[in-house]
Amino acid sequence: SKVPTLTLHNGIEMPQLGFGVWQVPDDEATRAVGTALEAGYRSIDTAALYRNEEGTGRAIAASGIAREELFVTTKLLNGEQGYDTTLRAFDTSLGKLGLEYVDLYLIHWPMPARDTYVDSYKAFERILGEGRAKAIGVSNFLPEHLERLLGETSVVPAVNQIELHPQLQQAASRAFHAKHSIATEAWSPLGQGKGLLEVPTVVAIARKHDRTPAQVVLRWHLQLGNVVIPKSVTPSRIQENIDVFGFELDADDLAAFAALDEGRRLGPDPAELNG
Ligand code: NAD
Repeated sequence: SKVPTLTLHNGIEMPQLGFGVWQVPDDEATRAVGTALEAGYRSIDTAALYRNEEGTGRAIAASGIAREELFVTTKLLNGEQGYDTTLRAFDTSLGKLGLEYVDLYLIHWPMPARDTYVDSYKAFERILGEGRAKAIGVSNFLPEHLERLLGETSVVPAVNQIELHPQLQQAASRAFHAKHSIATEAWSPLGQGKGLLEVPTVVAIARKHDRTPAQVVLRWHLQLGNVVIPKSVTPSRIQENIDVFGFELDADDLAAFAALDEGRRLGPDPAELNG
């Protein structure tokens, strides 16, 4: 079944479910992205940091899928923040992907102690104006970092991609995003497959719907309104993770999920990461 889209605040349609390629080596990314495109994914989430923009681009080129049917996201390398360096880094990413434009360009981390995200975002606004990104946004921004962008720049970020899963539900960020028409995109939506998929509540809900734990967790995200980008290099799991549009969680399931929030991060604290 087809993946529904969310309409970003600037009118661009973004698939609500995409394919993430963090920690996938370049060669393997070509294979994995190829498998995902065959399975029906049309949104791919990469980053300069992942060193697989070329492999991702090769899979896109080989797929024969029309460019306008795809939604490609990449992210600015932390070490390239700053106005001029951002413009150059963007050219490099486009070249590696072999594309004329990306659908979404994100600042990967705010790195608040470096104080370069506002200048970087001003370069993003220029790239957006040139039509070389259809939408611009950020990743790992806390509400305080978003407040600063809203005050000092003119384009509201279309998306904030943050760590979000049932054990880190990010209520404050989600409320802030909703208030400002910023879409919430969940990274590590499956909790990196570590532990979350064995939590008894999750296993019981999966059994009740005759689905897998990964599928009910993805369903939880979708029903919350999040964009999700699960990662797998295993063809059967790539299939399984997109087969989540034929069932619905009920109010009891959602209440059981709500009780799993521990506020515990798997990744770095955005206030602390500066390199
Ligand atoms: P994830 O939550 O998507 O989990 C992926 C892992 O879960 C896999 O490696 C596998 O071990 C397991 N898994 C996947 N499908 C499964 C299934 N059906 N059944 C059982 N186990 C399964 O974790 P992730 O890769 O960290 O996050 C997804 C994507 O988010 C990344 O690939 C990347 O694109 C993005 N991301 C962004 C940032 C950021 O800072 N912006 C950080 C981390 C990840």
